Amino acid sequence: MSNLGEIFGSNVFNDAVMKERLPKATYKALQKTIADGLPLDPAVADVVASIMKDWALEKGATHFTHWFQPMTGITAEKHDAFIAPTADGKAIMEFSGKELIKGEPDASSFPSGGIRATFEARGYTAWDCTSPAFIKDDSLCIPTAFCSYTGEALDKKTPLLRSMEALSKQALRVLKALGNTTTSKVITTVGPEQEYFIVDKKTFEQRKDLIFTGRTLFGAKPPKGQELEDHYFGSIKERISAYMKELDEELWKLGIAAKTKHNEVAPAQHELAPIFCTTNIATDHNQLTMDIMKKVALRQDLVCLLHEKPFAGINGSGKHNNWSMATDDGMNLLEPGSTPHDNKQFLVFLCSVIKAVDEYAGLLRVSAANPGNDHRLGANEAPPAIISIFLGEQLQDILEQIEKGGATSSKTGGHMEIGVTTLPSLPKDATDRNRTSPFAFTGNKFEFRMCPSSASIAEPNFILNTIVAEVLSEVASRLEAAKDVCAEVKAILTEYVTKHKNVVFNGNGYSDEWVAEAEKRGLPNIKTTVEATKALIEEKNLAVMEKHAVLSRVEMESRYEIALETYVKTINIEALTMIEMAKRQILPAVIKFATTLAASINTIKATGVAADLTAQTELLTEVSSLTASLKKNIAVLEESVDKASNAHGDTYEQASLFRFDVFEKMAELRTVADTLETLVDKDVWPMPTYGDLLFNL
Ligand code: ADP
Ligand code: MG
Repeated sequence: MSNLGEIFGSNVFNDAVMKERLPKATYKALQKTIADGLPLDPAVADVVASIMKDWALEKGATHFTHWFQPMTGITAEKHDAFIAPTADGKAIMEFSGKELIKGEPDASSFPSGGIRATFEARGYTAWDCTSPAFIKDDSLCIPTAFCSYTGEALDKKTPLLRSMEALSKQALRVLKALGNTTTSKVITTVGPEQEYFIVDKKTFEQRKDLIFTGRTLFGAKPPKGQELEDHYFGSIKERISAYMKELDEELWKLGIAAKTKHNEVAPAQHELAPIFCTTNIATDHNQLTMDIMKKVALRQDLVCLLHEKPFAGINGSGKHNNWSMATDDGMNLLEPGSTPHDNKQFLVFLCSVIKAVDEYAGLLRVSAANPGNDHRLGANEAPPAIISIFLGEQLQDILEQIEKGGATSSKTGGHMEIGVTTLPSLPKDATDRNRTSPFAFTGNKFEFRMCPSSASIAEPNFILNTIVAEVLSEVASRLEAAKDVCAEVKAILTEYVTKHKNVVFNGNGYSDEWVAEAEKRGLPNIKTTVEATKALIEEKNLAVMEKHAVLSRVEMESRYEIALETYVKTINIEALTMIEMAKRQILPAVIKFATTLAASINTIKATGVAADLTAQTELLTEVSSLTASLKKNIAVLEESVDKASNAHGDTYEQASLFRFDVFEKMAELRTVADTLETLVDKDVWPMPTYGDLLFNL
C-alpha cells in the first residue's frame, strides 16, 4: 500500500485543494459561504466549476454527477460527460457554475409520498458546498440536496441541513445567555459505527432470499452459532483482512477517516468505525461507506450484507450513532470536565438532551424503525424498543443531588490496580459502560444505539438535532428573560431532572424486569415499524418539525406515507420470495427425498429379507406429514399476501395487514421448512445452509 498520508483525501476536492487552486478571492468567497451559510455568488460558482473540472480531468474523470440522497435511503447519481461538441467536429470539456449548483433530475420515479404526481416530474438538486465534491468511478460527484418543483424536500439531506441550522441557532442563544461571547456557530458531530456481514459470493448466489431481500428467509440453526463468544474481536481471517485493507484504502482516498475495524459478535459479522465529523459530512461519508463496502466485496468474490437481520438466531447489525454538539471555537458541549457538578453549561446541555429524548421518544423511535430493524429492537441482542437514557454512576449521582436542591460534588473514578506489579495502575473512568441502553452517555457524547445498519443516519440525526433545538429554544427564552441567570439555570435543571428522570435507566435494558418497569414509568414500548410511523403525524411532532423549519406538515405526512409504503413493499417482496423458494425449491426437494425413501423401503422389502424398516418408515411418515404442512402453509401465506396486496383503505391498514398477518404467516411457513431441513439428506437440500454461509471463509 502507498503512503497513507498521500492517499488520504486524494480523490476529494477538499480545503487543501481549493486553497491551492482557487484564486484567493474565490477561495475566500466560497469559505464564507461554507462557514456562514451565506448564498453563493453565481460568478464565484463559475470559477469554482471550471477549476473543479480541471482537477477532476487530471484525476481521470470523464463525467460529473449530482450525488443525492432520495427517500429510498440509498444514494442516486445520473452521470453527464463533461463533453461539449465544437463546430469543427471535435469536443471541449465543459462544466459551468450553473451545472455545479443546480441539477434537474426527473423526480417522478423517486418516492415522494404523494407530494407530487408522476406528471409533475420536475425535481431539483442543489449543491451542498459544505460537503466536499469527490471522484468515484471516474465521475466527479457533487453532494447535493434534492427537492421538488414546489420546494418540498424529497430527500434525507435537506432536513438534515435545516436541522443543523436550527440547532446552531438555539444553542447559540443559550450560550450567549450563559455569558459566552466568542462562539459564532454550533455544529453537531457524528461518528457512526457500521456493522456488516461478509459471505462468500458463490454461496450467496445460491440463495434467492439473500439476492432478493438481503436476508435469509429460511435456514435451520447450525450446530454452532455465537455461543462460544469466540468471534468478537477475534483474529481476523485472511480473506476478511484483505477485504478490510482494500476497503480502508478506498475510503481513505475519499477522505473518509476509517479508523477502527474488528470482528463483531456473530460469526461472519464485522464492524467499521470512522473518526467523527460534522453531521452532514458524516452522513455523506456513511452513505459512501456502505456503497464502497458492497463494491469492494464483489471485487473479492465476497458479498457484504448490510441488512439488519441477515440470519435468525444470531445477532443482527446496527449502526451506533455517536452524537455531540461542538462550537466553532473548539468546545465539546457534552464534555463534562473533571467536576461536572459545577459545570453549568454542560449540565444545561445535558439536561436539555434528556428532556428532548423523553418528550419526543416517539420521533426518535421512528427514526430508527425499518422492516429489518423490527427483527432486532426488543429481541435479546439489540437495545429494546423502549427509549431510555443511560447516564452512568457519576451523572446519575449529580442528577440526584440537583433534584435534592443542588449539586456540590462529583464522584471520581480513581485508579485501578490489576494486581500484577509489572502492569501499570490505570486511571479509571468515573462511569462504567452500558451496552444495553438505546441512548447511552459515553463520556463526552451520546451513543444512539438503535439505528438500523442499512439505513441512512440522516433521519436519526435530523430528529435529534430538532428536538434538542426545541428544548434549547425553551431554555434560551427562559434565560434571556431571567433577572438572575444562575438562579434560573438552577430552576431549569431542577425542573428538567424532576420531570424527566423517568427516562433515565442505568440497568440492564435487555431484562424482562426493565420492560415491566418501563411500563410502570409510562415509557412507550413500540415494537413494530408500522406502529412507530404514527409518530410522524402526531400533532406535537408535526408542530416541532414545523416550528424549526426542518420539515413542513406536508413533508412529514409524505414521510409517513413513504415509510408505510416501503414497509408494504418490503414484506411483499419477502413473502413472494418465500413462496417461490418454498414451491419451486424446497417442496420438490423434500418430495424427491421422500420418494427415494419410499423406493428404498420397497427395494428392501422386495428382497424378502425380514429387515427392520422402522427407521425409514418413521422418517418417511414424518417427512411426508411435514411436506403436507409445508404445502398447506404455502397456500395460507399466498392467500394472506393476496388479501393484503388487494386491501383497499389507507396505507396504514394495508401495512398492518402485512405486519400482523403476512409476517406471521411467513414465520409459520419458515418453522416447517426449517424442521424439514434438519431431516432430509444434505445433498438434496436445494440451497446452502447457515453453516455453509457463516463458516466457510
Ligand atoms: P465503541 O465501540 O467503544 O463505542 P468506537 O471507537 O468503535 O467506540 O466508536 C466510537 C465512535 O464515536 C467513533 O466513530 C468516534 O469517532 C465517535 N466519537 C468520538 N467522539 C465523538 C464526538 N464528540 N462526537 C461524535 N462522535 C464522537
Ligand atoms: Mg465499536
